[in-house]
Amino acid sequence: MKADPKVQRRLLDLQAIDTTLAQLAHRRRSLPERAELEALARELSALEDERVRAQVAVDDLDRDIARLEKDVDQVRARKSKDEARLASGSGPARELEALQHELVSLNRRQSDLEDAELELMEQRETAQGVLDGIESRLAEARERRGAAEQRRDDALAEIAKEEEFKRTSRRPLADDLPTDLVTLYDKIREDTGLGAALLTGGRCGGCRLELSGADVARIRKADPDDVVRCEDCRRIMVRTNESGL
Ligand SMILES: [Zn+2]
Repeated sequence: MKADPKVQRRLLDLQAIDTTLAQLAHRRRSLPERAELEALARELSALEDERVRAQVAVDDLDRDIARLEKDVDQVRARKSKDEARLASGSGPARELEALQHELVSLNRRQSDLEDAELELMEQRETAQGVLDGIESRLAEARERRGAAEQRRDDALAEIAKEEEFKRTSRRPLADDLPTDLVTLYDKIREDTGLGAALLTGGRCGGCRLELSGADVARIRKADPDDVVRCEDCRRIMVRTNESGL
């Protein structure tokens, strides 16, 4: 393939833009916020599980407390009924005595129930404290997620802006070069990440390998407008005065 040496050197400008575009694509793929957000998603999911368990514990205690309260209410109702009958003073003495006995045992029962309820209310307070703690950790983790998402979006927008800028400058440059040369360059670049490199000090700028004596002889013999390629990495080698030929 033939191309004017000046045209060949412009390939390096194209390569500089493509290298920047490749770096931008790499930056997009490896944004630290991606890993951060994945870790946060795992943390949030674990906290959600914890929250559900803590809520169940609180709900269970509420249910137990409500049951005890109902029992206490029943005892109270029974007590007032007994007390009313005692106050009325009517009925056989044996029955009144039995009522007094029942009242004693009802008082004991009420006191036991109230102690148990108090104990459960203390447990509920502790369980609520655990739940509140998880809720605030959740809120804090969600806040961190929001901030990380914002940072990721800002970085993506910045990358997109730089890409657009580079693409805009690439288009006229590529359009200005011979189609077959750009096609060859693009093919090598897609295969190896680098289509063209400078030949400096007898070394290929693509693979950094030193040219063999036979290669140097071959390239010296080549016309200035011959497109020469590295024998090792197949990249287009652009020659300058510093090529060491
Ligand atoms: Zn090479």
